[in-house]
Amino acid sequence: MADTDIATAGVSERPVIRKRRADWHIAPNMLDYDATRRTFTWETARQALDGLPGGRGLNIAHEALDRHVAAGRGDKIALRWLGKDGGRVELSYAQLAQASNRFANLLQRLGLKRGDRVFALLGRVPALYIAAFGTLKAGCVFSPLFSAFGPEPVRARMSIGEGKVLVTTAQLYRRKVAAIRDKLPSLAHVLLASDGEESSLTGPGMLALDPALAQCALEFTIAPTGPEDPALLHFTSGTTGRPKGALHVHAAVVAHHTTGRFALDLHPDDIFWCTADPGWVTGMSYGVIAPLTNYTTMVVDEQDFDAERWYGILSRERVTVWYTAPTAVRMMMRYGEEVARKYDLSALRFMASVGEPLNPEAVEWGVQALGRPFHDNWWQTETGGIMIANFIAMDIKPGSMGKPMPGIEAAIVRRHDDGSVELVKDPGEEGELALKPGWPSMFRTYLHEPERYAKCFAGGWYLTGDLAKRDRDGYFWFVGRADDVIKTSGHLIGPFEVESALMEHPAVAEAGVIGKPDPVAFEIIKAFVTLKPGHKPSETLRREILARARKSLGAAVAPKELAFAPNLPKTRSGKIMRRLLKARELGLPEGDTSTLEGNQ
Ligand code: AMP
Repeated sequence: MADTDIATAGVSERPVIRKRRADWHIAPNMLDYDATRRTFTWETARQALDGLPGGRGLNIAHEALDRHVAAGRGDKIALRWLGKDGGRVELSYAQLAQASNRFANLLQRLGLKRGDRVFALLGRVPALYIAAFGTLKAGCVFSPLFSAFGPEPVRARMSIGEGKVLVTTAQLYRRKVAAIRDKLPSLAHVLLASDGEESSLTGPGMLALDPALAQCALEFTIAPTGPEDPALLHFTSGTTGRPKGALHVHAAVVAHHTTGRFALDLHPDDIFWCTADPGWVTGMSYGVIAPLTNYTTMVVDEQDFDAERWYGILSRERVTVWYTAPTAVRMMMRYGEEVARKYDLSALRFMASVGEPLNPEAVEWGVQALGRPFHDNWWQTETGGIMIANFIAMDIKPGSMGKPMPGIEAAIVRRHDDGSVELVKDPGEEGELALKPGWPSMFRTYLHEPERYAKCFAGGWYLTGDLAKRDRDGYFWFVGRADDVIKTSGHLIGPFEVESALMEHPAVAEAGVIGKPDPVAFEIIKAFVTLKPGHKPSETLRREILARARKSLGAAVAPKELAFAPNLPKTRSGKIMRRLLKARELGLPEGDTSTLEGNQ
């Protein structure tokens, strides 16, 4: 692909990747971005879906599964699962529909009511997909947790979500739940999916999932959920306080489906691979829902990143559309182009990436090594679906996140202290990225925290917490976060959660945590701690604090580096100034320090 020339307008002077019709294997779903934007409405997008039979409402599981089965299209493979150890399971749309019916029946048998919350702590195994759709069919709310979380993040999220059911495996239960079980008073049932190991786990409310499902009927009438009924609970993090439970409703499926069509160009013949874990929002919206509403076959790999394995999957499974993350792209770049050339990637027609800044070199490497560019797109847990994207039929400016989806109005704004918001009109000027509310996958609240939710809005805009610029051609460019949250290997981590875990160590007096830039993971978590009287910094203590944090938080959330400090910079009101810790770590200007404790 790729004629390149120099962009004359905008933020970057790098060569633009021009799109040509000859490069497309099939006609893109959106050929003309501007024309589609002019005519697009979410009401019309909704009509591409079915709604529950008899006008009984809208349900994500119906749109993803039962709709296709009812239309006589149930035989196609929906889920092609590749096990860590070489196992392979294929489930057709009809089989997944039936298995999820059984799960919905099981929830009813256990006495769950509409709106009750079902958590999953599972790797990428078929039971996860069955549980997700079964929960939605029963009218309950599904909340997937990342299986690399340690006990403390699991406890925090399940407590906020008041989970009644947890679907997990015996192994994960032993490692991450057993020790916190008595801190989860709402948890009534633990359903243990088989993990290949014979489990001797028994206890109150514990049930082996497979035998329980086998006793349930294959038929289920989906609960009459309305578009505004809660469906999904995804946790995300802010600078302060506990994790935030972003609640999404069934209407979100309209956005999942439409963004799948436009931003990922999903067609029914596609073999689609989203590498994100369903424990994070991307893995749910685009690794579970959108590929099935769009009637593709989705590939799911149980194993974590491994460059040769990934190339093997792309090649052998004839993946046509691939959605991955910048950290993975950069890890593949490290293996070099020669490795890529060993594989037949001729089926691959579209590649997209999300979650952290995709550096222009990575976009260009796609062209050199894989014959096509990566298409960066931007969104977040709260938006529920892709908001800004590089579309297949639109030229790419490497390093840019692209343009807003049809139906999405995005702007760069400046917040004022009096709560007002001013639009930044000049191209290339930095400000906060804001979106006009009203799209269907917009979160409806932070569970139990309406004030925190309200704070996300000002002057009729949803404020994303990201800093960005827009160039003269309407492309958006990511600048950074407006707050202290950390992005490491594509995972958003709240510093407060990490600091709280560090403070659990008896020697730690205070802790401050920052994201330290990293060439592959974008950022790694670095902690600074002060010690209580009677404790002295030592290598042994450093390792001990890190190990304890890792045990409690899990590998994905724990700090990788730790430094002892005699004191931490604080505001006069006693808040640790992470911004300053970071500036000092990186040798950058310290900026405004007028609120620093000790400053006159
Ligand atoms: P999460 O809610 O965990 O999906 O994280 C959302 C955050 O990830 C956004 O607010 C951004 O800070 C970051 N992010 C997502 N996509 C991109 C992207 N394409 N470029 C830069 N940052 C991104």
